[in-house]
Amino acid sequence: MTSQTISNTPTPDQIRRAPKVLLHDHLDGGLRPGTIVELARDTGYSRLPETDPGRLGVWFREAADSGSLERYLETFSHTVGVMQTRDALVRVARECAEDLAEDGVVYAEVRYAPEQHLDGGLSLEEVVEAVNEGFREGERTARENGRRIRVGALLTAMRHAARALEIAELANRYRDLGVVGFDIAGAEAGYPPTRHLDAFEYLKRENNHFTIHAGEAFGLPSIWQALQWCGADRLGHGVRIIDDIQVHADGTVKLGRLASYVRDKRIPLEMCPSSNLQTGAAASYAEHPIGLLRRLHFRATVNTDNRLMSNTSMSREFEHLVDAFGYTLDDMQWFSVNAMKSAFIPFDERLAMINDVVKPGYAELKSEWLFQQTASTSGSADIEG
Ligand SMILES: [Zn+2]
Repeated sequence: MTSQTISNTPTPDQIRRAPKVLLHDHLDGGLRPGTIVELARDTGYSRLPETDPGRLGVWFREAADSGSLERYLETFSHTVGVMQTRDALVRVARECAEDLAEDGVVYAEVRYAPEQHLDGGLSLEEVVEAVNEGFREGERTARENGRRIRVGALLTAMRHAARALEIAELANRYRDLGVVGFDIAGAEAGYPPTRHLDAFEYLKRENNHFTIHAGEAFGLPSIWQALQWCGADRLGHGVRIIDDIQVHADGTVKLGRLASYVRDKRIPLEMCPSSNLQTGAAASYAEHPIGLLRRLHFRATVNTDNRLMSNTSMSREFEHLVDAFGYTLDDMQWFSVNAMKSAFIPFDERLAMINDVVKPGYAELKSEWLFQQTASTSGSADIEG
């Protein structure tokens, strides 16, 4: 083994221990299967397709993999179905923070749509306060287990609904109380982001932050509207920006006006490789646009989207990218710093996270090979002696 191979390719264990930063993760897409089963029992939810946690986990994955939008959406009807009480929301949020911390995530922005959790009689405010409480509990238990994580909430409005302004006002009301920004999600086709202009204009007037799911299925017009009409700070997915980039046979690359704008203005792209494979936005990890976008120095970040439906984690996303593109710890650090720069918390806190948490974490991992080599040298000396 040469020092080259030791130092360049991170092991799965190093990937897990590396400090990772997550900007795009859905609360209702990351439940533990066992928790869904227990919450269904506790809350009288009777529509689960399986009641054995192992089989239920497989069902979620297969439904999400099936290529059928109907079955994919059905998965969320079950997770949202069991998240209708205060206790359920606190628990799901707490476990989310714990699971991310266990996976080596040091900073996460987790999103959910408060309007989808009102069936049990909770108010929008009660939903936000329950989720915040769960995140704080999860941060505390992570700390007790020797891990560090900070979790901020993003409030999502659904594209097909008409409550975006109300949810934006809610996000603004809780902005210094655990909510760091706003998002819109749901089917892109037929529901352009400009339908919710009043919400975005309100947030801009309030100097608040928002991201928009755009350029996942619908392509360049959706990205263009999200940026130039709505004023999004970040793009949820944004993978179709690739349609505005020409790669010539000789390897040279030409960026269109929109792709240039996105790169020049350092617009963060919240990329979710496994999720994109399931929805058909990319054919394989090796063909995922993140490879080219990283090479061209777009502000690309790596994210999970829906950990349950995609059977993934931040570590698993990076394992796939290491396999597909030969990424090193330096690449992982680059993605993690990109994400931290793009977070919605104040600049001084982002900078401190980068300089005092992310970079020292990678420096420590990058130095490990030095000590491994010393150990193996002394081992062979022993044998010879
Ligand atoms: Zn998403």
